[in-house]
Amino acid sequence: MKWKSITNIGAGLYNIGNTCFMNSVLQCLTYSPALANYMISGEHSKNCTNKSFCIFCSIEIHIIASHKATGKATTPLVIAKNIEKVAPTFRIGRQEDSHEFFCFVIDSLQKVCLSKFPKGSISPRDSMTTVIGSIFGGYLRSQVKCTVCQYESNTFDEFMDLCVEINQANSLTKGLQNFVKPEILDGENGYKCKKCNKLVKAEKSLQIEISPPVLTVQIKRFSFLNSYGGKDNKHIQFGQTLDLSPYMTQKNDYSIYDLNSVLVHLGDSANSGHYYCYVKGSNGVWYKMDDSMVSQAYNVFYTKGYTERSINTNSVIPKNTLGLKRKLEDEVSELPKQDIKKQFKISETEKKPIVEEKNSPVSNGSNPTNTAAPIKVVSTGAKRKLEDEVSELPKQDIKKQFKISENEKKSIF
Ligand SMILES: [Zn+2]
Ligand SMILES: [Zn+2]
Repeated sequence: MKWKSITNIGAGLYNIGNTCFMNSVLQCLTYSPALANYMISGEHSKNCTNKSFCIFCSIEIHIIASHKATGKATTPLVIAKNIEKVAPTFRIGRQEDSHEFFCFVIDSLQKVCLSKFPKGSISPRDSMTTVIGSIFGGYLRSQVKCTVCQYESNTFDEFMDLCVEINQANSLTKGLQNFVKPEILDGENGYKCKKCNKLVKAEKSLQIEISPPVLTVQIKRFSFLNSYGGKDNKHIQFGQTLDLSPYMTQKNDYSIYDLNSVLVHLGDSANSGHYYCYVKGSNGVWYKMDDSMVSQAYNVFYTKGYTERSINTNSVIPKNTLGLKRKLEDEVSELPKQDIKKQFKISETEKKPIVEEKNSPVSNGSNPTNTAAPIKVVSTGAKRKLEDEVSELPKQDIKKQFKISENEKKSIF
């Protein structure tokens, strides 16, 4: 996904009292090309009828203003003042968790998209065809496979971000390998196979069924096993590109992502510290956005170089730009060498924290529901509003989804 227009890096954001968690998330969203292109088009506000606070309008205004204010710093005051409408448990002035804030924002934006439809008329699956769903949404498949008769039981869950454990990993790819690693159900913990009609040895696994155009990965650094929110500060390696294909149910060559932004937490616990981020500007240069300071990698936001499905932006992004398949080598050479160096020159303390994830359940593949996005849009009686999305989803996947049992369907729809 490419920028519609290339501009200089935008504004820094003033910290008005422990608001770095908010500033860093807003900056990552501002430099996520798919979302920013849509916001800059003003498509939402043109049609918005909300006369009071609207998070979508506010983020739109913020992103547009931010991109225009090169060399300046601004304050996202409206969003800060209304933080409780976006994140009900948050209080301005208090240190809060940036990943939680990200989830609240995406959830709120999604709710705005869904508010156009009668309550309960959109299934979770259809909810992934809204602007927000079609930018951040993907599907996970949880499978239990009988080792005796090979019967497969599949459950699909939508997600807007992935939470990756790092307790047994020192790189993002290793974390993802562990994420999809099958778990053996055996003995007392065996699986009651419907076909064999008895307890059998089975393999339980979690894989990505459909990859999202914009991938957000949280590296789970905070442990809440001890009540102090202890943090694992070890160095976690990740690249400028990420191939999600090895962690998917079907191997493909359209799940290669370019790194867009990295959100950093500095500090030893979830309850304190400082957030800032690195973003890749539309000019291809990496910047450190530390509140009001803008200088020349955590939530890790990746964007697909190529996507097999279109983003529903009401034709804001020309279709042909979505069809471009970018090569890995191109990306690397596009980065000015200086910036690459700079990025790897960041201090050891900066390097450590990749992402913080509070209250997030364990997701080592043993409990698939836990890895689904915290954003839950539950409704039934689907009426597909955006027909064209259907044909763009891989046919096989759709078939698979409708082959599932009634019980399984209930957990999806
Ligand atoms: Zn609005
Ligand atoms: Zn069986």
